[in-house]
Amino acid sequence: MQINQQTGDTNFPLSKMEAPIFNVLAETAEKTNTEIYVIGGFVRDLYLERPSKDIDVVVLGNGIAFAEKVGQKLKANVAVFKNFGTAMLKHSDLEVEFVGARKESYRANSRKPIVEDGTLEDDQLRRDFTINALAISLNQSSFGQVVDPFNGLQDLENKLIRTPLDPVVTFSDDPLRMMRAIRFASQLNFKIDQAAVDAISSQKERIKIVSKERISDELNKIILSKKPSIGFNYLFDTGLLELIFPQMTKLYGVDVIKGRGHKDNFYHTLEVLDNICQTTDDLWLRWAAILHDIAKPATKRFEEGHGWTFHGHEDKGARMVPQIFAQLKLPLNEKMKFVQKLVQLHLRPIVLAQDIVTDSAVRRLLFEAGEDIESLMLLCNADITTKNEYKVKKYRNNFELVKQKLKDVEERDQLRNWQPPISGNDIMETFGLSAGKEVGILKNAIREAILEGDITNSYEEAFNFMLQKAKELGLNRV
Ligand code: ATP
Repeated sequence: MQINQQTGDTNFPLSKMEAPIFNVLAETAEKTNTEIYVIGGFVRDLYLERPSKDIDVVVLGNGIAFAEKVGQKLKANVAVFKNFGTAMLKHSDLEVEFVGARKESYRANSRKPIVEDGTLEDDQLRRDFTINALAISLNQSSFGQVVDPFNGLQDLENKLIRTPLDPVVTFSDDPLRMMRAIRFASQLNFKIDQAAVDAISSQKERIKIVSKERISDELNKIILSKKPSIGFNYLFDTGLLELIFPQMTKLYGVDVIKGRGHKDNFYHTLEVLDNICQTTDDLWLRWAAILHDIAKPATKRFEEGHGWTFHGHEDKGARMVPQIFAQLKLPLNEKMKFVQKLVQLHLRPIVLAQDIVTDSAVRRLLFEAGEDIESLMLLCNADITTKNEYKVKKYRNNFELVKQKLKDVEERDQLRNWQPPISGNDIMETFGLSAGKEVGILKNAIREAILEGDITNSYEEAFNFMLQKAKELGLNRV
């Protein structure tokens, strides 16, 4: 990044500001004798070369009136939000938001500020971080000049999240900013200034005035970043994680009995999460990585002569998923069910990989995982975090074998979206039965025979098998 610190401006962002919208904004400013600046995230992202479609424009004066002038010129619809004093218009693929420069002050019990008109500096002061307070002039005499009162450019270069004001005040005023600081650190791979980290630790309880939805929005952005462990380490170290997602902090720590310890499941989980982020952008698969071992603390036992065990943590973990989703106000829909299923099944491929792989075990896995089998395999692959080279090699080799078997079995038996070849209705009609116990017994027997490989997944073999089974039950064809 090339920054000219002397003049405070740089040609770098200017070259990126050749989009026609900036000319229209500048012309309108000139005509109406209004001072305007691009401000906030768009400017930050310009320097970081991150694509950004949202342009915030701060107007020294009436933001809505100015937006309407621009709208007339562009023949574009302007959406006005009177309550917020803002207006927005769309131009090609850009969203431009206009707001009058404002000064903000806060009360203790709310993150909603009292707002009054202000100067550009007031408006920059109300911004959360120095890198989010950068403004670029769109006025003729100074077009393209950067206004950087808090050394935001320097912080961009140093990869540092810092607050323009005393961080204690910044975070106490609006505690959502604590989540935002950590989210930006994770998204941008930046460090948070130590004073700000300390302030988050001291102000963490203030997070309680922020809605759960807002917190989860930020949490999800952390999870969607390239290396979410950056964010989670800050959340954990500052004590925020304990307040917003205590189940996860319980994974931390190692118990030692008779000289035997187990791995620290918190850091293991972060490793699995970072691993899976290299293979998927799917938020819910990433959530499955976070939750795969969530019940390990609750199921941990030290067994004499055996060491540490976590029997049943996959079942208990799956049962914990709905409660955690509800607590974090995450959707209680098929996404939650997907995460639950993956937590439930996460040990299965690896158990297969450790053992001799039989066709029937592979068929059962395919039957239970259904269309989520690829996601499950990605999760299991990410779960191999042992440092033992020999074990890694063995697991990975067997894992490839499991993959190949899955492919073969799927091609042959088509179990992925398995529908029983013989329906309950077929059974009832064949034997003149009404719905009841016998129908269930026959259906289960057919499914088991297919999964065990005793018969193929075909109507004919299933029908003959059913006849034979029915005979044993004393049922006759009608
Ligand atoms: P992203 O688009 O990735 O969320 P952004 O910085 O554009 O990043 P927005 O939430 O759109 O985030 O906010 C736009 C700008 O408004 C920020 O750059 C910042 O200057 C300011 N801002 C947003 N939220 C806050 C806040 N809680 N406190 C102070 N300033 C804020």
